[in-house]
Amino acid sequence: MADVTLNAVRKDYDDTTALDGVSLTVSDGEILGVLGPSGCGKTTTLRTVAGFETPTDGTVRFDGEDVTNVPPENRNVGLVFQEYALFDNMTVAENVAFGLKMRGVGKRERRNRAEELLEMLDIGEMGDRDPTTLSGGQQQRVGLARALAIEPNILLLDEPMTGLDAQLKARLRTEIGALLAELDVTGLYVTHDQEEAMVMCDRVAVLNEGRVEQVGTPREIYESP
Ligand code: ADP
Ligand code: ADP
Repeated sequence: MADVTLNAVRKDYDDTTALDGVSLTVSDGEILGVLGPSGCGKTTTLRTVAGFETPTDGTVRFDGEDVTNVPPENRNVGLVFQEYALFDNMTVAENVAFGLKMRGVGKRERRNRAEELLEMLDIGEMGDRDPTTLSGGQQQRVGLARALAIEPNILLLDEPMTGLDAQLKARLRTEIGALLAELDVTGLYVTHDQEEAMVMCDRVAVLNEGRVEQVGTPREIYESP
């Protein structure tokens, strides 16, 4: 895991400024929540850290190293985005091991890592299953295991619990929050849900119209007038 810094990141599209000078630091082992109204730049921030978008101006650094122009495949980031569905032509374990296979990790090690992660996420018996036969909450855990398998510099989560029922969300945020803390994961976590931010994030940044309006602990942010 790495320290990740955005310095004065600007992103212009033809007729919109999505990010208007965003500066943020995510410290090693910290989960930083990203909050704000629709269109404020949350997804663009994550996509810029992942390398899918190149800033119009400003820099992105991992552990001090400038990665602004490094392509996504060389950034080693873990993604849990809604559009990153599981591969339905692979078993659960193959899904988890996929990134390792791409990196040339041997079969035995891939298997051990996949098993270990599935155990940690409490779906240890599901390695041989077809992911489409899993519940939404179980699929979410597999997605997280797949993202963590590559030991990413940073984990990027974009509203991963959307679509799950309230009871399951409450359970997952507690369990996954504890796991991310235990594994010392560095993460950026986009959410609209106050409870999720309170449980899972060390600090949160509030964006508005492409700018960082406030950064603080969830308590500071939600209790401020
Ligand atoms: P959020 O995730 O907070 O809803 P986004 O980062 O998706 O916000 O979008 C920020 C702004 O940039 C919005 O005004 C959006 O319409 C615009 N935007 C995002 N992606 C593109 C794109 N590919 N082309 C043009 N405008 C975009
Ligand atoms: P190949 O990579 O040659 O296609 P497999 O289809 O057997 O081999 O497995 C793909 C990946 O999934 C491998 O990394 C393997 O270690 C892992 N894997 C397969 N089944 C399991 C399982 N039940 N539990 C954990 N890992 C598994």
